[in-house]
Amino acid sequence: MSNPSLLILPGDGIGAEVMAEVRKVIAWFGENQGLNFDIDEDLVGGASYDAHGTPLTDAAMEKAQGVDAVLLGAVGGPKYDDLDFSLKPERGLLRLRKEMDLFANLRPAQCFDALADFSSLKKDVVAGLDIMIVRELTSGVYFGEPRGIHKEGNERVGVNTQRYTESEIARVARSAFELARRRNNKVCSMEKANVMESGILWRDVVTEVHAAEYSDVELSHMYADNGAMQLVRAPKQFDVIVTDNLFGDILSDAAAMLTGSLGMLPSASLGSQMANGRPKALYEPVHGSAPDIAGQGKANPIACVLSFAMALRYSFDKGDEATRLEQAVEKVLADGVKTGDLMQDDDAQPVSTSQMGDAIVEALTASL
Ligand code: NAD
Repeated sequence: MSNPSLLILPGDGIGAEVMAEVRKVIAWFGENQGLNFDIDEDLVGGASYDAHGTPLTDAAMEKAQGVDAVLLGAVGGPKYDDLDFSLKPERGLLRLRKEMDLFANLRPAQCFDALADFSSLKKDVVAGLDIMIVRELTSGVYFGEPRGIHKEGNERVGVNTQRYTESEIARVARSAFELARRRNNKVCSMEKANVMESGILWRDVVTEVHAAEYSDVELSHMYADNGAMQLVRAPKQFDVIVTDNLFGDILSDAAAMLTGSLGMLPSASLGSQMANGRPKALYEPVHGSAPDIAGQGKANPIACVLSFAMALRYSFDKGDEATRLEQAVEKVLADGVKTGDLMQDDDAQPVSTSQMGDAIVEALTASL
C-alpha cells in the first residue's frame, strides 16, 4: 500500500511560518506512529504570482486534483493590492475551491478550557463548547443568476439571486449527517423558510434526505435569525449546524468568535468522493496571511495544526490520531504556553511560532 498523499501550499505571509510547524507535527506522526505521507509542495497566491505570474499554475492545480488532501497556509498581502482582479492571490484559492468542487465548508468552533476567558461571552456559556458549522460553499446567493447592478428609471438597482437545486442541498445535507454520526449525532438545519422559497425547498430536501438515509441522526430545523441568537445565548445546544452559503458565512464567523482568537480556528472544505472513497479535500486555517506580523515569528500556528488534525480525521480516517493532536494542543495551552494573540495582562512572555510548534510536538511525545 502506498502512503496517503498530501499537497502542501504554504502561500504568503504567515502561511509559510505556520506551515513549518505543521511539518514538525507531520514528521512526528511519521517517526512515532508509522503514519507517513507522500508530500509534495507548491506555490499559491502571491508567492505563485511572484514566481509564475499567476496565483495558481495549471501544474499546481493538477497536483491538487490528484492528491488525497491539500493543506493550505494563507494567501494575500498588501504587495498584491493593485494587481488586476484575475491575478490577485485570493483567485488562486478560489480556483482550488471551484475546480475541486468543494461544496461543504466545515468550520468547527471549539473552546479550549484554557482560553474560555478569551471569549466575549461568559465562561460557563462557552467552556467545553464543541460545535461544527457546515456551510454550503459553491452555490446560493453568491453565485446565483441574474446578478448585477442596472438602471431602473433614475436609480440604480443591485440584484443577486438565491438559487439552490435539490441536489446541491442534498449533498451538503449528507455531509452534515455523516459528520454528526462521527460526533454527537445531532444536526440542526438553518434557513429562512418563513420568508424564502429557497428556504422552503432547503427544509424539504434536508427532511427527505434525513428520512430516507439518516433517520438514526437527530434532526431539527431553525430559522437562521433565531440560530444567530441561539449561537450567542446557548451555543452548547448544537452539535452540527448545516446551512447555506450566505447564512453560513455569517453564522460561522459569529461562532468562531465564541472561541477567542483567529489564530485558533481551522477549517476544511470537502467535495465529492474520489475513486478511493476519500472526499476531495482542502484544509486551511480561517485566518489570512497577517501581513502585520509576518516574518516576525509571532504567528500562532495552532489553527494550521488543527487543520491538519481535521485532515487526519476526515481524509485519512485517523480519528484517534486527530484526537491525540487536539489533546496535545489543549495540554500546551493548559500549561500556559501561548503566542502573543492569546496573551492576557497577567500572562508571562509569549512564545514564538516555532516554540509553539516545538511545545506541541513535546506534548505529543508526552502522550505516548
Ligand atoms: P488576517 O486573518 O490575515 O489578520 C487579521 C488579524 O489577526 C491581524 O491582526 C493578524 O495579525 C491577526 N492574526 C491572523 N492570524 C493570526 C495568527 N495565526 N496568529 C496571530 N495573529 C493572527 O486578515 P486581514 O489582515 O484582513 O488580511 C490580510 C491578508 O490575508 C489580506 O490580503 C487578505 O485578503 C488575506 N486573507 C486570506 C485568507 C485566506 O488565505 N484564506 C483569509 C482572510 C484574509
